[in-house]
Amino acid sequence: MSADCIFCKIIAGNIPSSKIYEDDEVIAFHDVHPKAKVHFLIVPKVHIESLASCGARHQALLGKVLLLAPSLAKEQGLAGFRTMINTGRDGGQEVFHVHLHVFGGDQLPKT
Ligand code: AMP
Repeated sequence: MSADCIFCKIIAGNIPSSKIYEDDEVIAFHDVHPKAKVHFLIVPKVHIESLASCGARHQALLGKVLLLAPSLAKEQGLAGFRTMINTGRDGGQEVFHVHLHVFGGDQLPKT
């Protein structure tokens, strides 16, 4: 846990979230500022700054995060969805605890 990380505080239960999934390694909750009709985040519980900080030891965890996207999207009623991982300030990352965005609920614009 990182003391000044907002996602670590959510994981610790110190600040509220709109949680849709949790197990011993991962949590998922709705984004507080949704950029689509449905927008949730899948977050490993261990504090890893970004995708660029991940190594081979995180391979299974990253695979788990990725594979949770379709099952949680289905639970949220999404027929299709988009995933995104912002990495680094130049990549648009604001919260420096690695996370996967999942967007859906409308026909998303082409990228
Ligand atoms: P990123 O720009 O990839 O780091 O995305 C961080 C995301 O976290 C943004 O979409 C924020 O809206 C979202 N966010 C920040 N604080 C919270 C919070 N307390 N609960 C849920 N989502 C949050």
